[in-house]
Amino acid sequence: MIPYSKQSINQTDIDAVVNVLKSDWLTQGPKVPEFEDKVAAYCGAKNAVAVNSATSALHLACLALNIGPGDIVWTSPISFVASANCALYCGAQIDFVDIELGTGNMSVDRLSEKLAHAKTKGTLPKLVIPVHLAGQSCDMKEIHKLSQQYNFKIIEDASHAIGGLYKGNKIGSCQFSDITVFSFHPVKIITSAEGGLALSNNKQLIRAMQRLRSHGITNVSDEMTESSHGSWYYQQVELGFNYRMTELQAALGLSQFNQLDKFVARRNLLAKQYDELLKPMAVEPLLQTSDCYSAFHLYIIKLAISTPKKHSNVFEKLRECGIFCQLHYIPIHLQPYYKKIGFSSGDFPVAESYYSCAITLPLHPNLTAKEQRYIVASLGKLL
Ligand SMILES: *Cc1c(COP(=O)(O)O)cnc(C)c1O
Repeated sequence: MIPYSKQSINQTDIDAVVNVLKSDWLTQGPKVPEFEDKVAAYCGAKNAVAVNSATSALHLACLALNIGPGDIVWTSPISFVASANCALYCGAQIDFVDIELGTGNMSVDRLSEKLAHAKTKGTLPKLVIPVHLAGQSCDMKEIHKLSQQYNFKIIEDASHAIGGLYKGNKIGSCQFSDITVFSFHPVKIITSAEGGLALSNNKQLIRAMQRLRSHGITNVSDEMTESSHGSWYYQQVELGFNYRMTELQAALGLSQFNQLDKFVARRNLLAKQYDELLKPMAVEPLLQTSDCYSAFHLYIIKLAISTPKKHSNVFEKLRECGIFCQLHYIPIHLQPYYKKIGFSSGDFPVAESYYSCAITLPLHPNLTAKEQRYIVASLGKLL
């Protein structure tokens, strides 16, 4: 099977992890802050907090922004469920903003309309979580403008997008958001096995996420509410979690990070080759906008003419050919859990129409040109 995505691990990565195993620190040592500093400097953000997954990072980001019961959070229906679940973890209410069919990203027009409507009903969101589908940034400048008009916070779910650019700046710079989150799951651009990271330019948000990642404990004296009992002293000042990243994960992340630009360039090259090879076919790759350089976590195409039967048939047949294509994503509001809490089919028609024609073709740094030609030829025969 040719996987839709896969990690690329070399001997340097392996040595980095083995060296940590032989060191004094398996967790809470120097590698995590080193990784945080490297990624923050690369992205042009003030600071970063590394955790055990992007899901945890999204949860901490919501908590740091004081999301709780009574609050409303909006995200994209075309994302992994974690983008919405994080609001529910905090007891907030979740809703979705439909996508634009071209890029698959949250539609700024739909967002603007929905905000205007919510204002009249008194149901404005406290937080919006745009998702950079496949590695291409949403139109953050416009979303940021709306955030100032309607007074909401922004978390960028950039799980797909480390190494990408938006208007010349690195995704993760938080120029147009409060917090940006990356994932280092093995299918993503770089990996730490499991792992995630939250970036921000706001010191208080960073401190809140640092405390919450480790039980809500602080050892900074001006965050304490009582005077110290002695040199052993620390205080739990709020209810946190154990979401820490290990030193092994940070060492792998650091080593992978050194290859980030190379991986993203390779992914862009393969995507260009797909574009060329697919030109004669009745398929449409996701639209790339001129102010974005995508990290190309995914290469997604849409079948031009499609019936549900034909769409699923293409999946079955490609998988029979040893090509493990995928579908990113099943609209979150159509998941049984989300239907149970009140969403239904027809709520976000563009997302649903995208779902009826999208296919993710294999894309990862070690995909060969030969495999790529085989994938396109197999697809060509089916269409
Ligand atoms: C992968 C992913 C996540 C979750 O990442 P983990 O590190 O596996 O928790 C969240 N959002 C999106 C858009 C993702 O693709």
